[in-house]
Amino acid sequence: MKLQFLGAAGTVTGSKYLLRGEHAQLLVDCGLFQGYKQLRLRNWSALPLPLREIDAVLLTHAHIDHSGYLPLLVRDGYRGRVYCTQATYELCRILLPDSGRLQEEEAEYANRHRYSRHKPALPLYTEADALKALERFEPQDFEHEFTPARGFTAQLLPAGHILGAAMLRLHSAQGSILFSGDLGRAQDPIMRPPTPVAQADYLVVESTYGNRHHETENPQDALCAVITRCIERGGVVVIPSFAVGRAQALLLAIGELKAAGRLPLTLPVYLNSPMAADVTTLYRQHQTEHRLSEAQCAALGRTAQIVNTVEDSKALNRRKGPMVIIAGSGMATGGRVIHHLKAFAGDPANSILLVGFQAAGTRGAALAEGAQSIKIHGEYVAVRAEVASIGNLSAHADAGEILNWLSHFTQAPQQVFVTHGEPAAADALRQQIEARYGWRVSVPEHLQSVNLEGSAPASEAAPRPSQTLRLHRIGIDTYQEPVLFLRSDCPVCRSEGFESQSRVKLSLDGRSVVATLYTVNPPLLGETQAGLSEAAWRALDAHEDQEVTLSHPDPLESFAAVRGKVFGASFSAEDLQAAVHDIAAGRYSGLELAAFVTVCGGQRLSLNETIELTRAMVDSGQRLHWQRELVLDKHCVGGLPGNRTTPIVVAIVAACGLTIPKTSSRAITSPAGTADTMEMLAPVDLDLPSLRRVVERENACLAWGGAMNLSPADDVLIRVERPLDFDSEGQLVASILSKKIAAGATALLVEVPVGPTAKLRSDEAAQTLGQRLREVAQAFGLRIEIVYSDGNQPVGRGIGPALEALDVLAVLRRDAGAPADLRQRSLRLAGRLLEMGGRAAGGNGLALAEQTLDSGAAYAKFLAICEAQGGLREPPVASYRQIFKAPRSGVLRGIDNRRLARIAKLAGAPRSPAAGLELHQHLGAQLQRGQLLFTLHAESPGELAYAAAYAQAHPDILLIEA
Ligand SMILES: [Zn+2]
Repeated sequence: MKLQFLGAAGTVTGSKYLLRGEHAQLLVDCGLFQGYKQLRLRNWSALPLPLREIDAVLLTHAHIDHSGYLPLLVRDGYRGRVYCTQATYELCRILLPDSGRLQEEEAEYANRHRYSRHKPALPLYTEADALKALERFEPQDFEHEFTPARGFTAQLLPAGHILGAAMLRLHSAQGSILFSGDLGRAQDPIMRPPTPVAQADYLVVESTYGNRHHETENPQDALCAVITRCIERGGVVVIPSFAVGRAQALLLAIGELKAAGRLPLTLPVYLNSPMAADVTTLYRQHQTEHRLSEAQCAALGRTAQIVNTVEDSKALNRRKGPMVIIAGSGMATGGRVIHHLKAFAGDPANSILLVGFQAAGTRGAALAEGAQSIKIHGEYVAVRAEVASIGNLSAHADAGEILNWLSHFTQAPQQVFVTHGEPAAADALRQQIEARYGWRVSVPEHLQSVNLEGSAPASEAAPRPSQTLRLHRIGIDTYQEPVLFLRSDCPVCRSEGFESQSRVKLSLDGRSVVATLYTVNPPLLGETQAGLSEAAWRALDAHEDQEVTLSHPDPLESFAAVRGKVFGASFSAEDLQAAVHDIAAGRYSGLELAAFVTVCGGQRLSLNETIELTRAMVDSGQRLHWQRELVLDKHCVGGLPGNRTTPIVVAIVAACGLTIPKTSSRAITSPAGTADTMEMLAPVDLDLPSLRRVVERENACLAWGGAMNLSPADDVLIRVERPLDFDSEGQLVASILSKKIAAGATALLVEVPVGPTAKLRSDEAAQTLGQRLREVAQAFGLRIEIVYSDGNQPVGRGIGPALEALDVLAVLRRDAGAPADLRQRSLRLAGRLLEMGGRAAGGNGLALAEQTLDSGAAYAKFLAICEAQGGLREPPVASYRQIFKAPRSGVLRGIDNRRLARIAKLAGAPRSPAAGLELHQHLGAQLQRGQLLFTLHAESPGELAYAAAYAQAHPDILLIEA
């Protein structure tokens, strides 16, 4: 069995676990991510497998962070059944269509009020999608064993969290695994305690409150105190609440307080959630699953006035206190409660009462942390009302309650995975389980996969003690080079004779990496510790205190050929295969890489060596095949800021029916790469299955190539070329062509800009490069055409990811002010590709390209590609700007592209995506003194000042002559 964490790892939302058995693949829970934007964005990226390949979905309970992704799953191709308890099904019938409606309303509201950066804002899914998803449900009784898919039996056990909530036990030939789902509490006023479990081979346990203990104060007393304080001020108590579970607990408590005379019987209480009212009815229908009597259930329904219509909901905002309003959503991420917050948060007489867990990044969490204002519908709303929290009303077990529930295990699970918690909570629970029970516990990361087969108990796996050390993450960024730190007096250094700069092989759970060793003095590390740089940590997928085995790596035989080349020998095909293989495997140290790059530098590689280097680089990684006769690609030999033609060219070419699966790189030395720019407009970080889906649907994609593992040796070489600032013709050719061949291209258009400060500075150099590209491409049967272009000045207005993206959008949308040069260059390239693809006769490509752009067909295609990749988004805008004016009158005679790019980088690009530079003039412009030259954009005042100082120190970057 293999388990992959597709959600609820490092966060409390997005619960999704993929369990791959011998014969079938199951998805356990199917929740939405909520909270931080970067989490919510995950809802828009595809799961790492075709949805048709999932055989069954099992839900632990109905909360949206466990069920809310289902409508999307079914819409996008899932065809299996959804198993859960009867009550969970009935709750989903209420919650999922509401979630779809909410998505639609928010998108519609955003479009109407234009506050979203996404134009148009689109719903993640619709009510209709949700209704379709409900058709796939097949409810099961608690405790009853069933077979969700071949090779698995399943059982749902009461978890006590909310109505219908279950933990899930799965059995297969490889063992059993228990998913706790959300665990309820031992003493909940409504739900019964979670089922005690005695055995499971593997356990996935939640940790929402893994670092907290609920207060011992009676929650009714706390609730009574907050409400009493507020009604004495004549204020309004606004309580954001989940419709399921919390709302009923609140109604129960308020009803009892009124009955006991502790709150006025006349105090108006509004339940502004028709959904919560429906849910309350469900509690009556599932009488045996909770502690409430029939009379108590009936009383729940009478405690509050139900607010049904939107009009009545709005009318509440005009009412005066005292009153209590309970409304969703529970973390104030959406729903009717945010309109009440907008209306009531500004008045100190009012109270906002938080009664459930508030995930990081939500408005609820901001309020709990004492935020002075919160952002609602794009504007800031001041918070002057009293903000109070009652943790003890939570439906989740706290750390102590989880540990008590675990005490029922009569045998240690082979491995425990702590999920569904913020990082601090998950790690605190891990430590407590390890300390109290001595079990093997880990906190998985998002998308991490673990093998559940035959992972032996901890005691057996220990290798020879003299060679193992405990791992420690030092947190040193060595860029991509794996570095190991050891104490010089540590037992392994002594027995193996390792010293600083030694190459050491580290092995852990079947993974290994060769690292460069540096020795340190005692205070930094213990005698039995091995410190790792970030790159080594990532490569090993390590966890703190795991035991790692150290050994001597195999001798680096391929380096002999590099030495030979230094002294005048040539590389053979075998030499280059071996060297590139070792380079891609990370076996060359920084020093050895530098030597390899040096012997390939300048024009030291012959045609044959360049061909063999290209071949070796293609062979070092993955190769894509498209099963289409003609697959187009384009490339620009860098060095020209703002030359972002690719998205426009791809849209035009694909709109004419040709196939162009474009993978691009991120910036290495420039202020923006095509992937950085595209990322401002749509998700680009696609895995191979998603990429294929996009290309099958749209004939094109605009993705980042990094995840495809195309020509991985190239990525390693680029990392050393960058600090050395070398140009190597042979390697440049191999680098360009190996990526395109590996990406499956059959015909390639290469643009070579030429200019005094471009990468190619003379026509002669450009022609030589073009010639070499042709010769090498020919050896691989790749059709190639080369376009030489003007490299004297930047293209478009923007330099930097977001600013360039705005230029691209303007051209595609045919805005009146769209940069004409970017448009012309894009049309010219697209025209050539249309001719290469046989869509236009020689000389007619440009006209067809123009027609495709001007008719809107290219923009429509671009939107469709963005949509397929996860949805169009609007580029961010920088907060800090500074304008630069012409210091004298005259003609703009020269632009130093390199230094201009440097200004954009100093302003923060591409790391700060909104940062960069907007150029307002082009070569030959007749300027008056004081006329606008360029505007700097930055995301922080420090970066703005830094870039501005550099610009002021180099006034000749834009050369103005009388
Ligand atoms: Zn829940």
